[in-house]
This record gives sequence, structure tokens and C-alpha cells, in this order.
Amino acid sequence: MYSIKELYKIGNGPSSSHTIGPLEASKEFLKRYPNVDAVRVTLYGSLALTGKGHLTDYIILKTISDIPCEVQFDIETRMKHPNTMVFQGYKNNQCIAEMKVFSVGGGAIEIAGEPQNPLKHIYKEHSFADIKAYCKENELTLPAYVDMFEDKELEAYLDCIYTIMLDAIDRGLKANGELPGKLHVKRKASYLYEPDSSDIRKKVVAYAYAVSEENASGGQIVTAPTCGASGVLPAVLRYAKELGHSKDDLLQGLKVAGLIGNLVKMNGSISGAEAGCQAEVGTACAMAAAFLAYLDGGSLDTIERASEIALEHHLGLTCDPIAGYVQIPCIERNAVAALRAIDAAKLASYLHAEDSKISFDLVVETMLKTGQDLRKNYRETAEGGLAKTYHE
Ligand code: SF4
Repeated sequence: MYSIKELYKIGNGPSSSHTIGPLEASKEFLKRYPNVDAVRVTLYGSLALTGKGHLTDYIILKTISDIPCEVQFDIETRMKHPNTMVFQGYKNNQCIAEMKVFSVGGGAIEIAGEPQNPLKHIYKEHSFADIKAYCKENELTLPAYVDMFEDKELEAYLDCIYTIMLDAIDRGLKANGELPGKLHVKRKASYLYEPDSSDIRKKVVAYAYAVSEENASGGQIVTAPTCGASGVLPAVLRYAKELGHSKDDLLQGLKVAGLIGNLVKMNGSISGAEAGCQAEVGTACAMAAAFLAYLDGGSLDTIERASEIALEHHLGLTCDPIAGYVQIPCIERNAVAALRAIDAAKLASYLHAEDSKISFDLVVETMLKTGQDLRKNYRETAEGGLAKTYHE
């Protein structure tokens, strides 16, 4: 597994695979081929079908702005990977460079024909079962386990992540008006938020809306594990902060959540284009549930149970963003998942750990298989579900 710094990425919304990934790919192409005088980028699969609403062309053109650049949407050609883009570089009208890139989720990219850097895999164990066994044998907490493999920069990095998550909430709570795009969706976080209310669940909803609305507006957020699902973990982070947990405890909790997200990324998928929304919001909910179970003093088994419950009850969740915007159902879905994370952590604390028949690893494997069984209409193509049935 990679460092959890690879999971928590700082970037601008609305979509990690459709904006942060293409941004990274554009920068990589320019770095490799600085001599080209024009670029053509062709988007395939989900990138072609929802790239407009997800601002993929906007971010590529913004990044490759010093030379002429054209972005094409090819919705006919089928590629093996659902998020494929091909960069072609020209010099004096001759194509002199080509790079095929896959946006694999959470803002990460892979370049066709090139091996992944094996040095990036820094963890020894690759399943929750193995991590749990190791921690039990060595009497380690999950944050202590994370510290064994991560470098010293992690603490400062998580401090930064913590600040950006809370800042996104603060900005979102103050913002008014409409979200960008033709749906004319009204921002709701500011009216949902009642600072003096004793209704803490309503506040959690407001926090999730605040970050998700910032994401939909291209604001700065943290992928947790993706842009589309970036509202869930900050909402429960602020909830836990308001319950009185110290900053240090919250930072340790972010390690636990990061480990859970990492396991899904490694053994399942965090990409809506690959496995539907269960992979994005479902994973975010599992991360947030583990975060809360850890802060609540839960055992390793209880933390596992909390994340397993959270992910299990997102199985089959489709990705069907209306008109390709990360707005409907995405924003509301983040709020529901934040509440569900609280409930999953609570339910796990009520149950006896030894009663569980479903492990976290099993539910991750099931999520991936379910995602592979989903028709492509339900995997970030805006060709099925609400995206199809909704009409103005
Ligand atoms: S439906 Fe879920 S996976 Fe799809 S764009 Fe929205 S948040 Fe992302």
C-alpha cells in the first residue's frame, strides 16, 4: 500500500479522477515534452461522457495554456480503462509525442506501458486481517502501526489536511448563491447551519454540504478518498472536534481513516468510473466510521466492524450524477453518508465483535465485484439512474 499522503490529496474539485488526475497528466506531459508547440487531448469513457460537467476540459486547457491546446470528447471508442485520455504533442504540425494516461481514482494517474513505482508501496501488510493480527500480536494501535511505515513528514502533512478540511467547511458555511453549471442548484450549507442549535446531526449535515458545495464550485478540498466524496470525513471530523476530542486525537483518527481508505484503494476501488458510488461515498463512509470508532476507544475488532458496516450498506450504490455535475445526488449523498458513519460507529459499539461473520476485507472484495457487475451506465457515465430519469 502507498503512503496515506497519496490518499489524502489537496486539490480543487469537483472530481479527483476528472480534474486532479487530468491536471497531473497535463503537467506530466508538458514536463516530458517541453518542445511541442501544440497539444491535442482526447478523452474516452467516463472522461468523455461526464468531462464537461466535471470540468475536465477546463482544467486541461487551464494547465496547458501557453501553447494551443484542443480537447476532444470521444464517446464512441471503447477503451479498456473507463478513464482514459490520450495526449498528442505536435511540432510544426507533425505529431511527435503521444502519451496514454489512465485516471485511476483519487487523483492518481497511471501511464500506459509504464510500471508503477514499487518503492511507493510502503506497508508490509495488505489486508485488514493481517494488520489486525500484527497489531494484536505486538499490542499496537492502528495509528502506531501507521507510524511504523510512514515517514516523519506525515504528522505535518496531516496537520495541513486537518486545516484544509476545516477551512473548506468554514468557507462553505459562509457561501451563498448557486453552484456553477446549468442545473442552478442553490447552495444550502449556510441555511442548514444554526450555530446555536443543539441538533448536532443537523450541524453534521451542514458541514458535509459545506465541503461538497465547495467541491462542486472548484474550491480547495482534500480527497477523502475522492473529491466527490470529500464532504464525509471533514463533517465527522468537525463533529468529533465539537464533542471535545483534542486535535492530537483527531490527527491520530485521520491515520486510522487513511488506513481504511488505503485498503479499499489497494484491494477494491475508490473510483466511481470503475465501481460506482459505493467506491467513493461508500469508502468515505467506512473511513469516517473507523475514525469515530477509534476516537470512541473502540477495539481493533470494533473499528473493523464500524468500517465494514459503513461500506456494506453502500454496496450496489450507483454513480449517476445529473448532467455530469458533481452536485445531484453527490452533495446530499455526502451528508447521508456522514450521518451513516456516526450510526455505523455506534452500531459497532453495541455489537459483540465475535458475532461478526463479515470481515472488512470481504466487504471490500464484494464491493469491487459488485462494481464490476454494474452496467457502465451506473459508473460515472451520466447515462443511467437519476442522470437519465431527471428532466427539467
Ligand atoms: S454519484 Fe458518487 S461517485 Fe458519482 S460523481 Fe457523485 S459522488 Fe462521485
